Amino acid sequence: DTAVQPPVEDGRGGGPRFGDGPATLRADAVSAWFGDHKVLDRVSLTMPARQVTALIGPSGCGKSTFLRILNRMHELIGSASLAGRVLLDEVDIYDRGRRITHARREIGMVFQKPNPFPAMSIYDNVVAGLRLNAIRTGREGKDDLVEECLTKAGLWKEVRDRLRQPGGALSGGQQQRLCIARSLAVRPRVLLMDEPCSALDPTSTRRIEETIHDLRDEVTIVIVTHNMQQAARVSDNCAFFLAAHGTPGVIVEHGGTHAMFNSPQDERTSDYVNGRF
Ligand code: ADP
Ligand code: MG
Repeated sequence: DTAVQPPVEDGRGGGPRFGDGPATLRADAVSAWFGDHKVLDRVSLTMPARQVTALIGPSGCGKSTFLRILNRMHELIGSASLAGRVLLDEVDIYDRGRRITHARREIGMVFQKPNPFPAMSIYDNVVAGLRLNAIRTGREGKDDLVEECLTKAGLWKEVRDRLRQPGGALSGGQQQRLCIARSLAVRPRVLLMDEPCSALDPTSTRRIEETIHDLRDEVTIVIVTHNMQQAARVSDNCAFFLAAHGTPGVIVEHGGTHAMFNSPQDERTSDYVNGRF
């Protein structure tokens, strides 16, 4: 059944949603510019529900730009423009009449540098997104949600006795897991992660990878990573981006991660995944 369902209120406020649970995100011929500088050229990619999709490729090939386009952050950059479509379970997130805040609520983002509100308590960090999205939940509901989201982010046991301490007092890896918990609190259908472990030590990195693995049934995950071992460990699908000699970024190859790492179809993919550039 491919019929598009009308948006519905979920009873928690915060505007209409287009369904619940992990959704398939699909980019259709997405091109992007900063001023006259074209940085992505007709990128099409399906990021299936209940799977982890890794975006790999050298610096500057447009991975972060692509990720921002997927939740409408690109349009906040003054010089930025784009063409193409982004579909969340086949509903265009850029449709006129659909608000930017709806896209943000359904498609969360975690960045390279952990960015909790440092002076805000751990508890308030988790529920911060609720207020931003005008989602109404009573005190008890909030307590439950904080425990649930911190548990999913693998942080509950470490912080349950100090929920009133500031987020900034946590270690880098804990701060990143707090950011994941904060993203989960609004029950996004997709979670975008832009090099979430690049600023973290190996132990924290493994914890985040375990969390990503456990979240698979909860939320569709798209992760940018420079770490090929990480891509191989956490992702089901992989897309290899490349921008050759100042040309805009394109996807050279995409498909199942195992196949891409073991029998890449394009020589450039093979060179990249084997560390040859
Ligand atoms: P990646 O994440 O793969 O390293 P980016 O998406 O950050 O690549 O960058 C792609 C291209 O877009 C680069 O040439 C970069 O210089 C340019 N770019 C990124 N952000 C901006 C911006 N805010 N303004 C102008 N150019 C930008
Ligand atoms: Mg980047």
